Amino acid sequence: MSLELIFLGTGTSAGVPMIGCDCEVCRSNDPRDCRTRPSVLVRYDGRSYLIDAAPELRQQAIAHDITRLDGVLFTHAHADHVLGIDDLRRFNAVMKGPLDIHAEQSVLDRLGVMFRYIFEAHKNINDSFVANLIAHPRMVGEPFDLSGGTWTPLRLMHGRLPIFGYRIDHGPTGTSGGGGAIAYCTDASSVPPETFPLLENLDVLVIDALRYRHHPTHMTVDQALAVIEQVKPRRAYLTHIAHDIRHADLEPKLPEHVYLSFDGLVVGCGE
Ligand SMILES: [Zn+2]
Ligand SMILES: [Zn+2]
Ligand SMILES: [Zn+2]
Repeated sequence: MSLELIFLGTGTSAGVPMIGCDCEVCRSNDPRDCRTRPSVLVRYDGRSYLIDAAPELRQQAIAHDITRLDGVLFTHAHADHVLGIDDLRRFNAVMKGPLDIHAEQSVLDRLGVMFRYIFEAHKNINDSFVANLIAHPRMVGEPFDLSGGTWTPLRLMHGRLPIFGYRIDHGPTGTSGGGGAIAYCTDASSVPPETFPLLENLDVLVIDALRYRHHPTHMTVDQALAVIEQVKPRRAYLTHIAHDIRHADLEPKLPEHVYLSFDGLVVGCGE
């Protein structure tokens, strides 16, 4: 099976619709304007890897019939990317075993503080709270193999916070029915120069595009388009979208091979 990406959530940290907002987009009937918090599932060879655990992980997993995970990879420890961790215990139960998690050491440390009851299982009096997560510290630019797929952590800047994006290479790039190369770059306000060589020859680039106006920790649509223009992936998808963007308004204005993502969108390589 070829490399495949499923957009589980494509919204910004508050989600869309936002609590207490009655703007046109938050009231939209277009299902593509309904955006849960950002997360994607990467699939190849019958394996499933989750990037980030959004607060809606439970609903996302049920919506897409995700019943097993072969690993979870974190970009950073902001709430919209990690609050679904609690639901990983359900995968431990269903799969009757541990689950590997991958992140930068600083993020693993942060998760240990935020979810102490999960990571300090021996102090837990109730076994049903215990999660069985095996932490794997990862380094920028140092590829690692997950069941035949090569994962490379990419440095992205999220305001002043250095975070991870991920590049996934599986089999030969750009061949139908074969493999491909995908990069997932959410929550970025800029791409450092050293990251650009790691974004070459991509089938699919997913990149942060929060809204039209400037934001200190996220790219605007125009900034994302400038990165896409430089990287030249075969296709690009914008994500982490705020309520400022109405899907039907922006999609037709985007350049060729650039698309707005939406919850439930499935993208395959080699198509
Ligand atoms: Zn975020
Ligand atoms: Zn709104
Ligand atoms: Zn963030």
